[in-house]
Amino acid sequence: MDRRGHVYDVFVGDAKGIEISGLGRYRAGRSRFRGLRFLHTHLRGEELSTDDLMDLALLRFDLVVALEVLPSGLPGLVRMAHLLPRDSREKLYEVLEPLSVHELDLDFHQFIESLEEEFALSAKSSDILDGRKRALLIGVTTRSTEKARESMEELSALAESAGIEVLETIIQRRQTIDNRYVMGKGKIKEIFITSLQLGATLIVFDRELTGSQMKSISEATDLEVIDRTQLILDIFAQRARSREGKIQVELAQLKYSLPRLVLKDDFLSRITGGIRARGPGETKLEIYRRRIKERIDRLNSDIDEIVKGRDERRKAREKTGIPVLSLIGYTNAGKSTLLNSLTESSVFVENRLFATLDPTTRRLRFPREREVIITDTVGFIREIPRDLLSAFRSTLEELREAHLLIHLFDASGPTFREHISAVNDILQELALDNIPHLLVGNKADKLTDEEKQRIEEELGCITISAIKKESLGVLTSLMEKEIWKDA
Ligand code: GDP
Ligand code: MG
Repeated sequence: MDRRGHVYDVFVGDAKGIEISGLGRYRAGRSRFRGLRFLHTHLRGEELSTDDLMDLALLRFDLVVALEVLPSGLPGLVRMAHLLPRDSREKLYEVLEPLSVHELDLDFHQFIESLEEEFALSAKSSDILDGRKRALLIGVTTRSTEKARESMEELSALAESAGIEVLETIIQRRQTIDNRYVMGKGKIKEIFITSLQLGATLIVFDRELTGSQMKSISEATDLEVIDRTQLILDIFAQRARSREGKIQVELAQLKYSLPRLVLKDDFLSRITGGIRARGPGETKLEIYRRRIKERIDRLNSDIDEIVKGRDERRKAREKTGIPVLSLIGYTNAGKSTLLNSLTESSVFVENRLFATLDPTTRRLRFPREREVIITDTVGFIREIPRDLLSAFRSTLEELREAHLLIHLFDASGPTFREHISAVNDILQELALDNIPHLLVGNKADKLTDEEKQRIEEELGCITISAIKKESLGVLTSLMEKEIWKDA
């Protein structure tokens, strides 16, 4: 029923439910009402169901009304629910006390007007107060929940460093991954309700999603949906400082979105002029794809230019004969801290994943007038899709000129073994595994002596603490030995 009280559409369901269709194309958006009331019957006088409340929230009805049908066919109780403004944090909807149909004297016009006013006010204030995204993190796994939990902890740290507020972490084990929703439809509904209760605006999946999975889940929950890789790319985008860094991130983002564009015709029609008509959608998609490809070509050639410039600088550097040493390792291992301690400079250090995106280069002096150039690099991370790695090629190319790689890992973390092998895999993939490297466990200040010894023996490495300069002597003399071993 519309605001004037006219019947807008009629749906016939059965005792189990009603399928509402045909409203989808008139989506109202998160902060506006649809201007329609949804009136339906309940045959056993049941309370408003989860489905009713989902319809209320997803379709942004002014009001959901369930009218009890008595066995005699006469109307019994009326149950109603309406949405609440976003800043009433705990609840997103209000279910009113059931009334007999004869007691119903709601002035609907006044009611919806004041509700809309409240919404308008709260939309304004929450825009200012709360720029942060509020997310549910979801891990769906066919393997052990133990592994999934570790991965979720990392995802959570990633989300935090992207400035996202993590509301809840949900792990689900399944036999198979659902093509459409990743998980079961029932679970999706549950997640939707949780998102309403907690006021989530975003879902982050700990796995790669296809374009159509993103679309289905986003439609079923009315939330923004991203996956692990997109989150990582977002962080990269926030962190990129140099022109080169920015180009690389944009390239990676475009490469990632290209195969996922398939079904986002809603978005596409918006950017191409807002015509929602069906037929030309295909062509719009093609136009958009072509534009992206052109942009990718353009960025690639920009990078070629940058690499060329760097080659020249590198040649100049090679002429000086100064050896180059690169710090590599999983993100947050302490590479920038170590560079600072070694060279007493102050490269951007932050207890966030990916604080460093752009390579930083410093000189490090050794006794006997010896010196090396030492570079800090972007942190590695597992499950970076192969084709994205290539987007970061110019940063990673920098490693190719290194005479020695210092592979730093956080020896105090629970998952350093996985991190070490993730880094080794990437080195292999980039054919950098032939460059000599030193494995170094960092953050030894957080370990007991026994723990330190056990790790050193197990991995044949040394341990240091980048924040304690006096612990770096062993490392610098090892570096010296490695670099000038012929001398
Ligand atoms: P990167 O991502 O590898 O460059 O890591 P950062 O150098 O940015 O360091 C990440 C975090 O680890 C920062 O909070 C550092 O202060 C901290 N950190 C680095 N080295 C040590 C260390 O030896 N001991 C301890 N306790 N913390 C460290
Ligand atoms: Mg760093």
